[in-house]
Amino acid sequence: MLVDPWWKAEACAADVLKQQNITKLPIDPFQIANAKDILHQENPSLDAGVSGCLMRVGDRFGIMYSTRYSSNGFRRFTVGHELGHYFLEGHPEHLFKDGCTLHTSTTGFVSDDRYEQEADAFAASLLMPKALFREASENVGNGLNTVLAMAALCEMSLTSTAIRYARLITEPVAVVLSMNRKVLFSIMSPTLRAQRNLTWLKKGAGIPPSTLTFRFAGDSTNIQNARTASANATLDDWFDGPDIEISEEVIGLGEYGRTLTVLHAESLPDPEAVMERSDGREDDEAESLLPSQRFFRKSRY
Ligand SMILES: [Zn+2]
Repeated sequence: MLVDPWWKAEACAADVLKQQNITKLPIDPFQIANAKDILHQENPSLDAGVSGCLMRVGDRFGIMYSTRYSSNGFRRFTVGHELGHYFLEGHPEHLFKDGCTLHTSTTGFVSDDRYEQEADAFAASLLMPKALFREASENVGNGLNTVLAMAALCEMSLTSTAIRYARLITEPVAVVLSMNRKVLFSIMSPTLRAQRNLTWLKKGAGIPPSTLTFRFAGDSTNIQNARTASANATLDDWFDGPDIEISEEVIGLGEYGRTLTVLHAESLPDPEAVMERSDGREDDEAESLLPSQRFFRKSRY
């Protein structure tokens, strides 16, 4: 059974913030570590692919984070992730069993490991708390503009901010992280997920060739120079859905060769009016699912 890592992480992160009486953005993960006497420092010699690690010696904990990543937001997220391993129930017992004293992490919503997913969800919940994020995002436009503004306010990466945005926003939004025109990660807002006549792409699926994102990714300088582009699209372009207009905004994420796409619809038909899916498949909360692998049947009626 698929377990949603967010429920536990949201509750735990909210509890930590309450205990430490933290009520304003940006949240400082280093301050939270200090309050628990957790040492933290940069480490230039961590292996490629390792973003950080948590050490335990007796009852003392320490966090190291890699200097390979230049983004301040990514480092803050990494420290938040390691704090998740410290605070989340069952994590220290699992990670430090059998005399192990070191856990290395791959942060950023790319791991399939349950403990890594929970720690990522904790980091996002801790550094972009639900209520504070929703309140602040109400007055900063929509789509990519909101993501940019909230990333600056929360001092987080665009990717983690976009994921949080799609999870918390009430409007119909989808966020797609891609590299080499393949989906790395994608998430739909609850309102968009409620549209049951959309097909979804899985992790690894191709970006639809008719889209702006596909064309944008064809020029690597767009990505390296962090350019942005926007165009009108339709739900059909991305989700094999109805011919309803949406906005498509894409930004290059620089050195890692990734692109971030934000899809935003002004309005959608009432999902109750849409005929229910007939394939009997349970709805799936997996974050890695999204439009484009046409894995359920195309005919909608
Ligand atoms: Zn980890």
